[in-house]
Amino acid sequence: MIFILFVLGLLVGSFLNVVLFRFESGETVVSGRSRCNACRQTIAWYDNIPLLSFIFLRGECRQCGERISWQYPAVEFATAALFALSGARLYVPGNTSSSIELAFALGLIAILTIIFVYDLVHMEIPMAALWAGIFWAILMLFFLWYFSLPREMFFDSRLWDGLIGGGIAFLFFYALVFFSRETWMGMGDAWLALILGLVAGWQLLLPALTLAFGTGAVFGIGLILLGKKQMQSRIPFGPFLVAAVLFIALFGRIIQDVWQFPLWA
Ligand SMILES: [Zn+2]
Repeated sequence: MIFILFVLGLLVGSFLNVVLFRFESGETVVSGRSRCNACRQTIAWYDNIPLLSFIFLRGECRQCGERISWQYPAVEFATAALFALSGARLYVPGNTSSSIELAFALGLIAILTIIFVYDLVHMEIPMAALWAGIFWAILMLFFLWYFSLPREMFFDSRLWDGLIGGGIAFLFFYALVFFSRETWMGMGDAWLALILGLVAGWQLLLPALTLAFGTGAVFGIGLILLGKKQMQSRIPFGPFLVAAVLFIALFGRIIQDVWQFPLWA
């Protein structure tokens, strides 16, 4: 099961690379075979195997010898590792809600990987990916509620908790965007925070935001100390929100147990 998810993750990761490339070039996803970015030669199937081809070709195009971006194997490996981890963390054989939980995580991983890479490279987030993430989160939370046995009260469900959490997170980030005139955060971050709130629910929103701002601050300070960034230079915040969403999706229950304040009970 874990192995199958890993291989599935490699294939999905390879597809995500195509989607990312097409987002950047404006082509539609279904336009033909993969080509080398440098020499435009069609890539043979045996040179297009996720991860393995990059290793065998030593990161160079077989036709023109141009270096292939590290982004391709990195996205493939990250997707595969996260898929396998999701299976190990979430899947319980024969349990419907754990299957929904797993599907929820796999979809989030695919969508958020796109957002992570695109924001890192371009300092902006494609709106289509944000809509996909919001839609997927609400759909899966609805399924988790609808197929719960016995069916939970709506106001006890994670769908309700998520809608409240998402609303609060969106308004908080919208205020940051508005008052900073988009210098601290962009609107993309606000929509991404909505996804974080949906996944975390209002109960885990505070630890989730602490995680995002905490890792963001540590990285920011680290880059300044290493001399790679100046105090005023911008670092995209999306990747930290993405990391927080995935961490909560995979390890939310652990945090819930550790952070059991009477306040939230
Ligand atoms: Zn080439």
